[in-house]
Amino acid sequence: MNEFELIRRHFARRGPQREDVPLGIGDDAALLAPPAGQALATTVDTLLGGVHFSPDIPPADLGHKALAVNLSDLAAMGAEPAWATLSISLPEADGAWLAAFADGFFALAGRFGVQLVGGDTTRGPLAVTVQLQGFVPADAALRRGGARPGDHVFVTGSLGDAGAGLAIEQGRLAFTGPAADFLLARLHRPTPRVEAGLALRGLASAAIDVSDGLGQDLGHILAASGVGAELEIAALPLSDELLASGIAQPWRLAAAAGDDYELCFTAPADAAPGVADALDCPVTRIGRIVGEPGLRWLDAQGRTVAPPPRGWDHFARDER
Ligand code: ADP
Ligand code: MG
Repeated sequence: MNEFELIRRHFARRGPQREDVPLGIGDDAALLAPPAGQALATTVDTLLGGVHFSPDIPPADLGHKALAVNLSDLAAMGAEPAWATLSISLPEADGAWLAAFADGFFALAGRFGVQLVGGDTTRGPLAVTVQLQGFVPADAALRRGGARPGDHVFVTGSLGDAGAGLAIEQGRLAFTGPAADFLLARLHRPTPRVEAGLALRGLASAAIDVSDGLGQDLGHILAASGVGAELEIAALPLSDELLASGIAQPWRLAAAAGDDYELCFTAPADAAPGVADALDCPVTRIGRIVGEPGLRWLDAQGRTVAPPPRGWDHFARDER
């Protein structure tokens, strides 16, 4: 089967067909009709086999994740997702692999009304690039630079799960059963916080998605806003499954491991009490913004604790 037949079979005319797409897959370019009065939010992410995912990841998980990481970026802008393009490089034209990949991709696309409007298919090392576009009024977008001293710092969901899942997948953490499956699913099938991002318009002063680890990602907000933060390690939201894994010092994983795709955001003190009611997912206050630059981690007694080293999950084997 040639490249064109593969595209037609697995990707053309699948998933949501939106009214703002005059022309989708099949011509030299797609034609898109952005809504008047909104900015186009656009983001792109590449996942490389052996770098961002294990080459034997189930293809349906990869299809999900390739879109999920981009949905997460739009969520962190408060944007409503709409159109995706997909570039796949494959060592060989494997119909079964593509079918499963497409199933994972379109299941998630359908949940968020995203139409696949084009892409590219080439032979080469396994790599997947998704570009995603969506809409947000420019003055309502959640930027990184809006955090102010006195703001509260929040995070959705739980942190550290995907880091523990990676340790399990790589054989560095011996843990099996339903809780281990949950942690692995958090790594392979992250839940982008799209609705939460939309609900945070007009409420959050700054936002980012946690892809590289809380400390690093919040650091981007702090740098862009010219402020610092104090975080309470006892407040970090840890899942029951992460605690059940028996991993030592789980807060360090929550603070430094990546791939959770939760949202970290700040909100002014007077807006903070309304945050939990505004969101459809768990949300936890983990600290506050201060004027002095830098990120400080505090223990339950308010003492400064050494920051977890970046990539702390490498310690998982030693400390278990
Ligand atoms: P061209 O050579 O003109 O760039 P292609 O043969 O690459 O065209 O693509 C033909 C059509 O199929 C285009 O509409 C393109 O966007 C779409 N397409 C190609 N690969 C993919 C893919 N992996 N996913 C979705 N659409 C794709
Ligand atoms: Mg062409």
